[in-house]
Amino acid sequence: MPVGTLGTVKGLDVSRVEDTGAQVVLANAYHLALRPGAKTVAALGGLHAFMGWSGPILTDSGGFQVFSLAHRAQVSEQGVTFCSPIDGASLQLTPERSIAIQEDLGADLVMAFDHVVALPNSPEAVVEATWRSVDWAERCRKAARREDQMLLAIVQGGLDEQLRRHCARELVKMDFLGYAVGGLSVGEEPTEMYRMLEVTVPELPTSSPRYLMGVGRPQDLLEGIARGIDMFDCVMPTRNGRNALVFTDNGPLRLRNAAYEQDTRPLEADCPCLACRHSRGYLRHLFKAKEMLGPILASLHNLTYYQRLMAEARTAIAQDSFTDFRDEKLRRWAG
Ligand SMILES: [Zn+2]
Repeated sequence: MPVGTLGTVKGLDVSRVEDTGAQVVLANAYHLALRPGAKTVAALGGLHAFMGWSGPILTDSGGFQVFSLAHRAQVSEQGVTFCSPIDGASLQLTPERSIAIQEDLGADLVMAFDHVVALPNSPEAVVEATWRSVDWAERCRKAARREDQMLLAIVQGGLDEQLRRHCARELVKMDFLGYAVGGLSVGEEPTEMYRMLEVTVPELPTSSPRYLMGVGRPQDLLEGIARGIDMFDCVMPTRNGRNALVFTDNGPLRLRNAAYEQDTRPLEADCPCLACRHSRGYLRHLFKAKEMLGPILASLHNLTYYQRLMAEARTAIAQDSFTDFRDEKLRRWAG
């Protein structure tokens, strides 16, 4: 899922996002509640009309911001009080308030409000945040009113195998429609993340979508799929694209590199995206000249790359050849 935190996948209008093959886009309840406000989005017809995106939308609950904006957040059992980076006003998010905001925004998939902490962290802090997240998931379930929205719970537990399993079991008892694995890709090694998936995912029902939040690099997506994950979101394709880093089957290219100055080849010969109608030399020139088209085209290519990778993975799964597919990709990326 391409990330459109503020109701826009940065630099790309929805038609271009659709061209990449994306089916679902992400938006963020915390950021949209601050600006323009959930009621304003509702008055403008809800997120689908607001963004002009007719496909499914998933909103994150604001739980990740407890981690990413920790210096602006005060956590209690009741909820979290944030100091707005826009005007310093305070915004209180509780499980009930997060659900109300997400109901006003009107996404199709909505997330439970959880407490994400940085890793590594003290065992006490991880345990406390995990059980708080379980408690908050139950409050979200009770608060949810809209029957046209699918509420997903989020498994926490840091890097503690027992805690991850225990948290997953408690959430599954509450019978959510989908489950996410959260609190990963927040500073730990990829191998530790894979280990957490190996203990967590088997606890989650195969009949429900299983979503790994905020991940990741192309290799992380394939390793996640190998461990049973169905859905991902990450800012990497767009954020890296804006910084002149593009993904290819032969590994990432840094477009500012002088090696591409007179390179007539496209980023990838078989890529159907608009960026790949141009030469690497031209794309490099756009970045060197600080033209806005550079970040736009690089973001478009990266999103297309990720969507094509996922489409290939789905085909490989259907043909029962996913392991070979993954190993071949990993080998080529490693160069
Ligand atoms: Zn391309």
